[in-house]
Amino acid sequence: MNVMVDNLMRAFCELLEEATWMGDKTKAEAHKKLAAMGRKIGYPDYGFIDEEIEEKYKSLVMTPDNLYENLDTLFWTKSKKRLNNTIESMNKTTWRKPTFLVNAFYSPRKNYIVFPAGILQPPVFSERFPVSINYGAIGTIIGHEITHGFDNKGSQYDKDGLLRMWWQPEDWVHFKEKGQRLIDRYGNFTDELSGMKINGITTQQENVADNGGLKEGYRAYKKMTMGKEDAKLLPGLNLTHDQLFFLSFAQRACWKATKANAIAHVLSSKHAPNKFRVIGSLQNFPDFAKAYKCPVGSPMNPEKKCSVW
Ligand SMILES: [Zn+2]
Repeated sequence: MNVMVDNLMRAFCELLEEATWMGDKTKAEAHKKLAAMGRKIGYPDYGFIDEEIEEKYKSLVMTPDNLYENLDTLFWTKSKKRLNNTIESMNKTTWRKPTFLVNAFYSPRKNYIVFPAGILQPPVFSERFPVSINYGAIGTIIGHEITHGFDNKGSQYDKDGLLRMWWQPEDWVHFKEKGQRLIDRYGNFTDELSGMKINGITTQQENVADNGGLKEGYRAYKKMTMGKEDAKLLPGLNLTHDQLFFLSFAQRACWKATKANAIAHVLSSKHAPNKFRVIGSLQNFPDFAKAYKCPVGSPMNPEKKCSVW
């Protein structure tokens, strides 16, 4: 995972370098932010030191026969801890997410990315998977989280997590224009299951991260496999590794929902429904069209592409 995170950071670094719409001053700040980005992978080391666990829970006295009192104690202990965290300065080593979560995160106020142990397992990640499958799944997720540092919200925080404008005004204008194109693209999708249109504005952050993550993941994957293009194919699957990369990207988004759930999702989630997270990103990526031979102008290879990164 550490090697993959290094490779994905390098991929984003290259995208930054290649961004012709961004001036050198803003780029220099962006590089600083990328270099300062921390990472948390798997679980915290401190969770395994007995004395620390004792210390952490010593004020927490539970009784076997009083549920209300236990909940009350839990609530107050947690509140006090939160208050202390706020007062004492932000401790960047603390894990705030449970390690079993099958999810990944970026914290704009602390400028770090988090991959709990829960997500580091098949079908998203395995040391036995071909490089194409790992980079298509967890690789693009790592890219997604890095890109959050530079989406429409993350970009407003600096390398130390302070809400401070580090963009030159003209670059910010270009950035907003590029974002607007993504808003329009996703806002045109209609989700069949809920029968509703997707909100391009409220899902913008995630769409920026999805589109960027896919590109960065593919770039890192190609670099890893350079000179090894003749890697063995998987038995029983008539797919090239390039195709597998994209298949893996799509497969990690598989889900099943009821109509009620789909409606609730469109109304409340920052994410577009998974189907559109997949096709929205792939439609914008020429290497996907190349791998699956989609003619220009076909649904998965529209002539007009849009992306922020
Ligand atoms: Zn996200």
